[in-house]
Amino acid sequence: MALRENTPYARSQTESMWKNLEDDVPIRSPVSMPTQCRQAKRMRCVVCEIETTFHRHGRIFRVRQPQLPRAYQSGILSRVDRLLAQRLARTAEVPNPTRSRIFHELDFDKPGKQVGYLRVPQSRDGGAWSTIEVPIAVINGGKGPAVLFTGGVHGDEYEGQIAGSRLARRLDAQSLRGKLILMPAVDLPAALAGRRMCPIDGRDFNRCMPGDARGSFCQMLAHFIDTVIMPQVEVSVDVHAAGNAMEAALCTIMHWVDDPKVMARAQALTEHFAAPYNVVFWGVDEGGTVAAAAERHGALSISSEIGGYGRVSVEGLRFAERGLDNVLKGLGMIDGKPDTTQPDGGRTRQMQVRDQRSYLFAPSDGLFEPTFIPAQEVRAGKLAGTLHFIEEWAREPMPIEFPIDGYVWMAPGSGRVRKGDVMAVIMQDYAAA
Ligand SMILES: [Zn+2]
Repeated sequence: MALRENTPYARSQTESMWKNLEDDVPIRSPVSMPTQCRQAKRMRCVVCEIETTFHRHGRIFRVRQPQLPRAYQSGILSRVDRLLAQRLARTAEVPNPTRSRIFHELDFDKPGKQVGYLRVPQSRDGGAWSTIEVPIAVINGGKGPAVLFTGGVHGDEYEGQIAGSRLARRLDAQSLRGKLILMPAVDLPAALAGRRMCPIDGRDFNRCMPGDARGSFCQMLAHFIDTVIMPQVEVSVDVHAAGNAMEAALCTIMHWVDDPKVMARAQALTEHFAAPYNVVFWGVDEGGTVAAAAERHGALSISSEIGGYGRVSVEGLRFAERGLDNVLKGLGMIDGKPDTTQPDGGRTRQMQVRDQRSYLFAPSDGLFEPTFIPAQEVRAGKLAGTLHFIEEWAREPMPIEFPIDGYVWMAPGSGRVRKGDVMAVIMQDYAAA
């Protein structure tokens, strides 16, 4: 049976077809056969997967075995081509390294209020197609700024989780101008476990931006936020607290950036949020954070440290809830003026943490007895605390001094420290560079 008429067109089509298969689909490439004819080639057809032996006799292709796909038998070249193209397309369907695997039913541009989940694939024993459903709300009230509020980026920081989810329940599109995207428990597995690190992949979500579409849970979610959500927003407020490890003087935080206009806008935003302090950072390795990702996308970006010690701070939560409302008011997205009053009657105090001299690192493992609480004024050289070595009678407790003058921004919460851990961070009044 002749597969093809001996025409230049048919020959070139068939040759290029097999050549493509050899090039592009190695697992289906011809296998040499020790047959009677040295020119014989045994091939697995990519259309029907039947193995077929072809003899190349001069310019005519002949088939020795009869298991031919019908498309060949009928000689309908276009059908062969189509099936072949489909088969090749399927075979070539390798994972796209840039397409998110996360799916959802949200339409980010649709007017009104939508609440739902980002479904992050997480195959496990007993759950082949399981997903982790990360809560998300999109409230679209028409013309106005687009804003992202995130909480629960660290699971042991609770104020943003409560404030964000309460705001999502309370706010409707009719009372909003602009778009608000709320993700109150970004690292949901960590939030459910009350831990900083994600229990699924062991990562700190706030070191995972810009993420990886084919990576672990945190990396996939970070990639989605970086590629789908960040490009939509002009303002990002990421609500943190100091977690299990530390306790913070209640504050917003922001990065120092070169552009004085951006600095002024960000500081104005922190004054709207109106925590007791705003802390500006210099040159910190923060590239993997949600705040840094927002900056890379050109959004105005602030965060907070609004509690700590592994519990819900009553005062911190009050400032967090008021702060999110204040930001929306300050941007003109909801009615009313920001309430910026402070317990001392003043305004948000602008502070800075300029470099590593602000950090008090543990010189040894031990049990740290601090002399300070958050927001306390301190002096360089004065006793910051005592490091105890309770396992050794022969080793005297070690006095630790404050490195610089200032106010305690972060105080330790864990008792036990390891060499290199941060036992305190000192902030100073902001002075423009
Ligand atoms: Zn945090």
